[in-house]
Amino acid sequence: MTKNTTYDALALFSAGLDSLLSAKVLQAQGLRVKCLHFVTPFFGHPGRVRGWRKTYGLDIDVVNIGDDYVQMMLDKPKYGFGKYYNPCVDCKIIMLRHTRQLLEKYGATFIATGEVVGQRPMSQRRDAMNSVINESDTEGLLLRPLCAKTLPPTPMEESGLVDRERLHGISGRGRKDQLRLAEEFGITDIPTPAGGCRLTEQASACRYAPVFQHHPAPTAQDFYLSNVGRQYWAGTHWLTIGRDQHSNEMIRRNITETDLVFDVVGYPGPLALGRQFTGAWTEDAVRDAAAFMASFSPKARRAETDITVTVTQGDTEHTVTIYPSRETALGWKECTWQDAIPTRNAMDPKKR
Ligand code: SF4
Repeated sequence: MTKNTTYDALALFSAGLDSLLSAKVLQAQGLRVKCLHFVTPFFGHPGRVRGWRKTYGLDIDVVNIGDDYVQMMLDKPKYGFGKYYNPCVDCKIIMLRHTRQLLEKYGATFIATGEVVGQRPMSQRRDAMNSVINESDTEGLLLRPLCAKTLPPTPMEESGLVDRERLHGISGRGRKDQLRLAEEFGITDIPTPAGGCRLTEQASACRYAPVFQHHPAPTAQDFYLSNVGRQYWAGTHWLTIGRDQHSNEMIRRNITETDLVFDVVGYPGPLALGRQFTGAWTEDAVRDAAAFMASFSPKARRAETDITVTVTQGDTEHTVTIYPSRETALGWKECTWQDAIPTRNAMDPKKR
């Protein structure tokens, strides 16, 4: 991260079109803008930042707030969720709180976001936008360059630091004005609308719900794991099974000291990871998981005989001999949206 450099603005940069334009609008006034790309297990693409810097000509830093974000979810988001696990109002609040704390570090005066009044049903209604300002303590510090002209002037405009005349008065859900503006800036690589937040997706909600339901104290690391491969649960037993080479690699990257790593011997097959978070699994549970994960190796299954699976935890390794099977005593299941709804609703203050 850059240090001791003075910027005029810190701009929240999701890489969506609105956040991109918001930074560009300020840059076009000659203001010095540092973009912040927030990363959690649920959204953010730190690996793309280098490309965006080049494509869009922006100065972008990554800010990882994964554990704070998970804690916010565990504390039950005050403004509740959207359709799935997306706490959009609380999400904006937590990002702005972090940005506010970074103003001094970057020597910046104010914060910019790409919000547009009325664009998103949950977080961009006028009352929600006011709650965001109040709760993040950014009154007088927050500028929304794309819709500023629909809002009262901010101190940054009144002081002359920002030229209000060169800000915009966009409102509503359409993208026409934004696309016109993108053309003015010569942006040809237009980001797709609102992509990239897993909390807005049903499939991801089904991955996260059992972690919230069963894990007494999950961290960001647990949710990174829940994004990987196939997710199976049997009560508090959690098994991640690789789907392909990439997810096997992701599993390897997520292994902790207490995890059980299952690997089929003698047949090509997936890697599987059992996360022990309520104490050690019994040997029966280990054998059950081994039989289940081995059933994802077609060749091991077709062998129709007992096979060997290595089970590694930290520096210790042992083998179990099992018959590959999808039907085991523990009854491994993938979480469906119907299964996930009660957990999600119990975490939503609006639903209780
Ligand atoms: S869509 Fe996701 S990243 Fe965007 S505000 Fe909502 S929760 Fe946050």
